[in-house]
Formats: sequence, C-alpha cells, structure tokens
Amino acid sequence: MVLNKMQQIQQQKYVFGHFNADIKEQLLAEKTILCIDENVFQQHEQLFKDFYKIILPSGEAHKNQHTVHQIYNELIAFEADRSTLLVGIGGGVATDITGFVAATYMRGLRCGFIPTTLLAQVDASIGGKNGIDIGVYKNLVGTFLQPEFVFFDTHFLKTLPQQEWINGCAEMIKHACIQDEQLFALLQQHSLTDLQANEKLLLDIIQKNVFIKKRIIENDPFEKGERKLLNFGHTLGHAIENTYQLFHGQAVAIGMYFACQLSEHLSTFSTKETQQIQNLIRQYHLPHTYSYDIEKIFSILKMDKKRERNDIHFVLLERIGKAHTHKISINDLHDFLAQS
Ligand code: NAD
Repeated sequence: MVLNKMQQIQQQKYVFGHFNADIKEQLLAEKTILCIDENVFQQHEQLFKDFYKIILPSGEAHKNQHTVHQIYNELIAFEADRSTLLVGIGGGVATDITGFVAATYMRGLRCGFIPTTLLAQVDASIGGKNGIDIGVYKNLVGTFLQPEFVFFDTHFLKTLPQQEWINGCAEMIKHACIQDEQLFALLQQHSLTDLQANEKLLLDIIQKNVFIKKRIIENDPFEKGERKLLNFGHTLGHAIENTYQLFHGQAVAIGMYFACQLSEHLSTFSTKETQQIQNLIRQYHLPHTYSYDIEKIFSILKMDKKRERNDIHFVLLERIGKAHTHKISINDLHDFLAQS
C-alpha cells in the first residue's frame, strides 16, 4: 500500500522538516484548526495565513481553565467535530493546552504538535502528557493523549528569546543526567552559542533528546515505572517555579542540583559528580540554588502528584547517566530541605 504524505507523517510520528515544504499542504488538506501561541503567530504570521486558527495567550499564567474554556467556545464557533485535527503550535504551554483540549472536547479530537521552543522540542511535545495549572499547582489537571505526530522545524527557534533557549537547555541536561553520559559529555564540550550558530549540531542534539524521551515513553506510556525518571529535578522545581515566578528551566536546574545533593546523601552519587552537574548547569547560564522559604515550599511539595501517603517518590542519580526513584518520607525530606 502506498501511503500519502500525511499517512507517512503519522506513521513516522516524530518528523523533522520545514513547515512550508513538508507539512503545510498536508495540514490544509485535513480539517485542521491550528492553536497558535500569540508570540509565535506574531513572528511567523505569513506561514499560517491560509488556516483556521485560534490564537492562544502566551505564558504559563494562561495555562488554565479560563483559556481552555475560551478555546472550547472557539471550537464550537468553528463547528469542530471528532474528525477535526487540532494542531498545537508553540512552546510547552501551547502544546499542553492543545493536548488537554483535544483530549476533552467531544471526548476526544485528533491532535498533533509543532513545538517552537527548544524546551518543547526536546521535551514537552513528546510523550502525550497534557495539563493545566490550578493556582500554584502545576499540571494538577490533565490527561494522557498521544499526538498523531510531532513535527520539528528548527527554523522557528530563530525568533526564540535567549532565556527560552536557556530553559530548553535545562531539560537537555536532565536527559543527559538520567540516561546518557555521552550526551552529558557532548553538552560539556559545547556552549549555547555553539548550538545557536551550528544548525547541524543543534539538530543532532535535539534528535538525541527526542530519541531519549521517545524511548522512555514508549516503554512506559502511563508513568508506572521508568517514565518517572523524567521528573528528575521537577519535584522541587515545580514547587518553586510558580511560587517565585521562575522560568521553568531555572526551577528545574535548581531542582536538579537539590536532587544531586539528596543523591549524595541517599545513593551512590559522588560529590565530584554533583560538581560536574553544577558546572554544566552554570555553563548553560542556569542557576543551581535559590533562597526559597522552606516552609512555604514544603507545603507545596506535600501536594506533589508523586506523593503516596507519607512518602514521596524522588528521582535520584546513581551516577551521571543512571537514575532511579527512591521513596523518602515527607518528614525526612523536610529535614533534608531545612539543612541543605
Ligand atoms: P512557553 O510555552 O510558555 O513558551 C515560552 C515563551 O516563548 C512564550 O512567551 C512563547 O510565547 C514564546 N515562544 C514560543 N515559541 C517561540 C518562537 N519560536 N519565537 C518566539 N517566541 C516564542 O514555555 P515552554 O518553556 O516552551 O514550556 C513550558 C511548559 O511546558 C510548562 O507549562 C511545562 O509544565 C510544560 N511541560 C510539559 C511537559 C509534558 O510532558 N507535557 C514536559 C515539560 C514541560
């Protein structure tokens, strides 16, 4: 059977190419509605002129029920039905909201993603998790829905602000720490400036990250085991991100450094390796510490989705490139937080 180009994209699922040349016509041939982050729309308006589209307000503050409700109303106005293909275009906020809307509107629409931030290309758009925030509780409400495809076009990154590049680096460091010492070494050898100047290197590093996450989520789509490792740095990270209005990457970097310290305490991880991770975090312009209010953060940590009664599942490192989850009591975590 000869597959048409859209079927080829769906079959490959993770596709690298150029929006205009490799996917635009296929999307126009479907009953497609684009959900586009407003900044991406402003910067790349010409690309999207022939489409039905919903413009999403940009930023984490809009990843909430109010925005979801507005999108539902626009879908009603467009007479969207179950054959509609909803395509989220933007960073992790746009892909998370689009995935959530696609999973819930009429009990499920088809969806695809075109991630336009480094963070969304190496992480957020892959894996089928979606969600919205409820107050300070990040991603408290959400579902699993695998997109039909994720289409990666690195040209979108040309308009990405510097801080957003830095955020994406945090997730690449995370992947290297939990799964891939060679990627860790590659990141050590280069800088963010190298990635921005060298298209081939950038593509290679993005592909390596996509492959790491794709492999993990294919083994464990519903986060019963291995997928939990992707939460490295995120337990503390999520708690401080919204409380202190930090960038996601900054919060994750601080969370990773804390997890390294906890790993030294409870696992086989060495001080030398913590130092290497601290250096890499700083090499990519990320912070590794923050003077947060321990009691305030602890009260949010207690609500973490990875909590089970009085224990919390924390991702720790055995060595660079190998991680495991460790059950730690809420009280012990409090004590360690207080002394770190
Ligand atoms: P984001 O979506 O807020 O995008 C960051 C900023 O970049 C926004 O202001 C956006 O308007 C702008 N932008 C996006 N693409 C651009 C482009 N090409 N040019 C210019 N500006 C552009 O943030 P993010 O860092 O991409 O994603 C963070 C979100 O992803 C968080 O909500 C986090 O919870 C979520 N996330 C989800 C998963 C998952 O598995 N579902 C994994 C990691 C993170």
